[in-house]
Amino acid sequence: PDLMIQVQDLSKVFDIRGSVPWKSTPFTAVDSVSFDLERGTTTAIVGESGSGKSTVAQMVLKLLEPTSGRVLFEGKDITTYQGAELKQLRRRLQPVFQNPYGSIDPTYSIFRTIEEPLRLHGVTKHSEREARVRQLLDQVSLPAATMQRYPNELSGGQRQRVAVARALALRPDVLVLDEAVSALDVLVQDQVLKLLGDLQDELDLSYIFITHDLAVVRQIADDVMVMEHGKVVEHARTEQVFTDPQQEYTRRLLEAIPGRGITLGAGG
Ligand code: ADP
Repeated sequence: PDLMIQVQDLSKVFDIRGSVPWKSTPFTAVDSVSFDLERGTTTAIVGESGSGKSTVAQMVLKLLEPTSGRVLFEGKDITTYQGAELKQLRRRLQPVFQNPYGSIDPTYSIFRTIEEPLRLHGVTKHSEREARVRQLLDQVSLPAATMQRYPNELSGGQRQRVAVARALALRPDVLVLDEAVSALDVLVQDQVLKLLGDLQDELDLSYIFITHDLAVVRQIADDVMVMEHGKVVEHARTEQVFTDPQQEYTRRLLEAIPGRGITLGAGG
């Protein structure tokens, strides 16, 4: 299986300024994290708020420089990427965030929202962009007429579909989904997760799926990496994590899932 991403011993230390302006304390937000992402698979990163998940995502996306360690994309270290190489990385590795307003502008029509990356990447013919936007809307199961609408006229689930369509516009290989379904109702979450699963099969996409909510990963993830205080506490196949977690911390996260705690043995 080909490796899309290798995260090797990645750490991030922030300098936290305290009450004394000339003093700062180092704070390790991500501590020696390593994992591989194979093509066509989903690795979930799960942990409570503040455990370092988004910081890992930002370093994978090359939006934040690691303090140490490295990220390889198809075997190549992205640290030195710049110019055309970096542009290519930005095309092939797309983020989808929790709040679609982070990536979609409320004043843009849905057409403009989805066609923007195409325009920025040199698809100059309007008819070509329009055909692609139609195809993308179809792929995320939204009617073509959605094009003329504005983000505030759509439901949360529809907006998240638009954000996914926009992320797919440049035919990426990897999506980094950071709390991408967390703001949605459970039923809508299921629909978007189903869509993501279908798109993965259809387009051979790889996902890094970040969430504080262990419950949502069972449906989508091949393997689950559990983080606490910047460290990986457990990383295993999804079924293993749900049926036979090795760490007390993972058991606690499982017990916090409504209606699931009961399925665990007395030891948990
Ligand atoms: P998560 O995504 O799991 O909620 P984050 O990666 O956002 O966690 O944050 C991990 C820790 O790093 C938190 O304690 C957060 O306050 C801290 N942190 C994140 N970004 C910065 C920053 N730019 N400066 C200082 N501390 C930060």
